[in-house]
Amino acid sequence: MEVQVTCDGCGFQGEAALFRAVGNVMCCGPLVFRECPRCGNKVICDRQEMQGEYEDAARQMAGRVDEAIREGRVGEAEEILRELSQLNRRLNLAPLDDFIRAARRRIRQAGAAPP
Ligand SMILES: [Zn+2]
Repeated sequence: MEVQVTCDGCGFQGEAALFRAVGNVMCCGPLVFRECPRCGNKVICDRQEMQGEYEDAARQMAGRVDEAIREGRVGEAEEILRELSQLNRRLNLAPLDDFIRAARRRIRQAGAAPP
């Protein structure tokens, strides 16, 4: 899956490849600066190789949310969803957004249903 980067200067969004990497934020940290192709703003990005690890973590968490909702552990599901949506602020995956929204709906319905 292509990594999407959003410029916080002008709002331009595109594949990370469109943003030229211009250097590390710290000498050896996981963050790099990338230059927005539209306005030249420097955007801080996670290194692309980190993305895969975050995606794996997100997939695992989504599985745990599914399981928790199925087994009626609503509190646990909500807790994982909170973490998951924080993680997705970094990942910016639309399908994950959809999953989070759908899971929240399922939790609300589970809460409203008689035991
Ligand atoms: Zn820009």
